[in-house]
Amino acid sequence: MSRVIMQEPTIFVSELRLPARVGVRPRERGADQPVVVDVWVNAPRVRRASRSERLRHTVDYVRIARTVRKVVAARHYPLVESLTEAIARALLDRAGVASVRVRVRKLRCLEDAADAGVELELAREESEPRPSPIDPRTVPESGEEVVVLGGGCAGLAAMLWCWRLGHPALLVDPAPILGGQLRLVHGQMLDLPALEPMTGMELARRLWAQLREHGGRWLRAELTGIELEAGTSGCQLHLRREAARGREGWERVLFARTIILATGVRRRTLGVPGEEALLGHGILRTAAKKIDHLAGEQVMVVGGGDSACENALLLAEVGARVTLVHRGTKLSARDQLSCQVLAQDRIQVRLGSRVIQFIGDDHLEQVELEEAERAPARLPARAALVRIGWIPNSAPLPREWLDPAGYVQTDPDGRVTGTSCAFAAGDLQGRICPSVAAAFGSGSTAARAAAMELEEDTPSP
Ligand SMILES: Cc1cc2nc3c(=O)[nH]c(=O)nc-3n(C[C@H](O)[C@H](O)[C@H](O)COP(=O)(O)OP(=O)(O)OC[C@H]3O[C@@H](n4cnc5c(N)ncnc54)[C@H](O)[C@@H]3O)c2cc1C
Repeated sequence: MSRVIMQEPTIFVSELRLPARVGVRPRERGADQPVVVDVWVNAPRVRRASRSERLRHTVDYVRIARTVRKVVAARHYPLVESLTEAIARALLDRAGVASVRVRVRKLRCLEDAADAGVELELAREESEPRPSPIDPRTVPESGEEVVVLGGGCAGLAAMLWCWRLGHPALLVDPAPILGGQLRLVHGQMLDLPALEPMTGMELARRLWAQLREHGGRWLRAELTGIELEAGTSGCQLHLRREAARGREGWERVLFARTIILATGVRRRTLGVPGEEALLGHGILRTAAKKIDHLAGEQVMVVGGGDSACENALLLAEVGARVTLVHRGTKLSARDQLSCQVLAQDRIQVRLGSRVIQFIGDDHLEQVELEEAERAPARLPARAALVRIGWIPNSAPLPREWLDPAGYVQTDPDGRVTGTSCAFAAGDLQGRICPSVAAAFGSGSTAARAAAMELEEDTPSP
């Protein structure tokens, strides 16, 4: 019997009739006029939805329509072209959408025609293929000159510099996609020196391309421990790959003459009941994406710093009713943000308050709080966001390399204090400005220092 291949499905919304302010003529500037919008959206993952029967595997047409309405209502558009493009771009920004076609028609704009308008198609540029991990069996038994641990900005910058300096390195990272925190940066980064504003994934794609161009090898594995080699300059790295979906896991010890630690940081969690189980089911990973549906809903933000306040404001802007819960007696965010939060009607601030548990079966329903001078309370919450800081990914490292907060201690060249073979870079160093620029700078510095160490250590012929 011949195989059946499902072509990419198209989700469409047709004849959405909306009032719009569009046109350059004086009479068109101040008044609404009807436009009719048709959209067709292609998203490869939709193929899964017919089998899984889950809404999250498709691109919900309710949300497509909501996005269109929001763009149309946002402002006056001098040309139908600009309105059409704005709609297409907003739809293309939705997760998983590969291409869109949008048609906008102005009704009754010509005496002898039913309508006139613009049709436009936008597609994502053929996205940069993700780097593929290498087969672990290709890593030589004899070990490696340089191993870079962590494939975020710092690790990828170190990989590039090691290659430039003539010491191609092996990259080790367990994540399915390289880029580290860049995968969480959905908004435009406005402070990338000499680069135009871009999202984290756009920057990650550029770093992937560089890694591919210089033939960088990536072993998909996690560092679980380090032993310094007595009497030699080098160390033994304990690496592990978890078993998953029919693939066997493995563990191995790999010798490295030098290492560059760039394992970065991860978000601190509260560690209370329900937090892990409801992550992704009401407890949000990010507030920058897909939050339109929270308009009118009760949302809890936990934390009192910049990130908590920024997210509370973002959620309030889309119309969510936000409760900001902070265990301190004063918000710790910078003054400007704290003032904005306190002035925002849709944000209620509860100080001296701790989350005890998140409650819900399949989805978050309530959050239980313990408060200084009140009885424990259960507040309804459709969503929650925990923003209480970061912790370094340093558990596999020897304790004596770390400061009390768990960050790696290094000299200005990135050499780990008291070692000759270990260097560190990026957020793992716990410097005052954790940023892309600092990660690039420290990654390249550590690579240079590691190369010098190798060159000093190699006897001349
Ligand atoms: C939401 C958000 C917005 C931001 N906005 C900006 C901005 O506008 N401008 C700016 O300059 N910076 C911004 N940053 C900060 C910036 O992204 C980080 O400072 C930078 O990406 C840190 O890079 P890194 O390589 O040090 O660490 P990370 O990006 O944390 O990478 C660490 C890597 O190590 C891997 N790893 C972890 N444990 C192990 C292990 N045991 N073994 C092997 N590998 C391991 C991880 O999988 C990860 O890939 C933002 C960050 C976030 C989260």
